[in-house]
Amino acid sequence: MTVDSARVNRLNNQGLQSGDYVIYWMQASQRVEGNDALSFAIGRANELRRPLVVAVALVNRYLGAGARHYRFMLQGLAQVAERLRERRIAFVLRESSPEELILTLGRRACCVIADRGYLRHQVAWYRQLAEQLPCPLIQVEANVVVPVEVASPKEEYAARTFRPKVQQHLGRFLSLATQPETRCPASGLDLMTLDASETDSLLQSLGMDPLEELPRLILQGGEHEARRLLEEFVEHRLPQYDKSRNDPSLDAVSHMSPYLHFGQISPIEIAVRVQTTGLPSIDAYLEELIVRRELAINMVHYNAQYDSLAVLPNWAQTTLAEHARDQRPVLYTRDELEAARTHDPYWNAAQREMLLTGKMHGYMRMYWGKKILEWSPDAATAMSWMIYLNDAYELDGRDPNGYAGVAWGLGKHDQAWRERPIFGKVRYMNARGLERKYDMDAYVQRIDALEIGAQGKA
Ligand SMILES: Cc1cc2nc3c(=O)[nH]c(=O)nc-3n(C[C@H](O)[C@H](O)[C@H](O)COP(=O)(O)OP(=O)(O)OC[C@H]3O[C@@H](n4cnc5c(N)ncnc54)[C@H](O)[C@@H]3O)c2cc1C
Repeated sequence: MTVDSARVNRLNNQGLQSGDYVIYWMQASQRVEGNDALSFAIGRANELRRPLVVAVALVNRYLGAGARHYRFMLQGLAQVAERLRERRIAFVLRESSPEELILTLGRRACCVIADRGYLRHQVAWYRQLAEQLPCPLIQVEANVVVPVEVASPKEEYAARTFRPKVQQHLGRFLSLATQPETRCPASGLDLMTLDASETDSLLQSLGMDPLEELPRLILQGGEHEARRLLEEFVEHRLPQYDKSRNDPSLDAVSHMSPYLHFGQISPIEIAVRVQTTGLPSIDAYLEELIVRRELAINMVHYNAQYDSLAVLPNWAQTTLAEHARDQRPVLYTRDELEAARTHDPYWNAAQREMLLTGKMHGYMRMYWGKKILEWSPDAATAMSWMIYLNDAYELDGRDPNGYAGVAWGLGKHDQAWRERPIFGKVRYMNARGLERKYDMDAYVQRIDALEIGAQGKA
């Protein structure tokens, strides 16, 4: 099966060059298996009888990313390099901006294939490269089940308006193209490998200390680990996912978000694997993986103000402005929040979970955001602090899901509720609500145990 034409977009009108190779600029989909952008690029290279060069631009201090993010990403890229080598596909990794690297390599290319991200700076890269490359720039949308413009031509109001639109296309898009064999091996071109020692020197060249004490509980990056964790989830946790996913005292979720964020696994591969189980909890999982995740992508694609209060519906902006001067019960600084020094043991546990593991439980992320709104001087400050903390510590940060999650805490994709101080009509959450539903002491103990375990390993 070939790549569905709805995933493929030509971004400029340049004619094909008689170049030395075809380039796949790998950015959003950092994997070899289940990557329709790579499959398309191999197919193009075969048709043109040219070798394929996969190029990755390592952007320094990408949107505030730190050592934990780069290490996770480089672990994944080392596997990409190895798998490409087995397929005799050249791999180039440089510390550079994508514009510089792809324009330089593009001078000798027949055409350039790109994958697709949806954030502002990614869109700006595609625009600039489309204008300046001397050859065709073709984009393949490989990180969503349903291509964003097919799912909906406009920004959606909520999951209930988006769900039927996306679901009607699942039959067509829940499958991956077959990856062709490489017909023109890249002999004579740079067949790069990337091992652990190079990872350290790359971190160093990015100005990060490779020996910096990283929390021991951070997940390992790479498509191999993504698949291993997926199998573990399917076998042990998926059967209870519909009932237990929101309970922070349990580990009932899939942990796919960092792998999805770096494109180390395809959402189609995950969805198809989960469907093969035939379990009753499939629908609950696909609601998160497809409807919620692709609703977040719909938001950032159609609303360039995704990281400011302007992304909120009018009712939420109005109600938050009306309550801007309400007395806050307590005000914390960003440093106090960052250090998990509040009066609230549940909030502190959630913040510590994020610092320690790079991944806060999903239900606690909602509570975490609501409390930051309650304890900050105003909604705009709360939003900027949430984004800062989320992106500095969550392995899956800097993602459409992150911006949508933060905005949800302020009323996005939600409805108006009973009016109350500070929040106005925006949904409110409190500690008693958590206690009513879940064993919150068990959650705090789980995080304490992680911390003790991490100290033991240090
Ligand atoms: C304040 C706040 C910040 C958030 N920041 C991020 C972020 O930076 N990156 C990120 O990927 N997610 C973020 N989320 C959404 C959600 O909490 C995470 O996707 C989820 O906890 C990831 O864990 P998991 O993969 O084990 O989830 P699972 O429950 O196993 O879900 C499977 C997949 O479904 C998707 N998903 C699950 N919940 C949501 C959701 N609420 N919205 C959109 N997609 C969802 C994710 O891709 C996830 O990997 C945030 C939510 C909030 C409220």
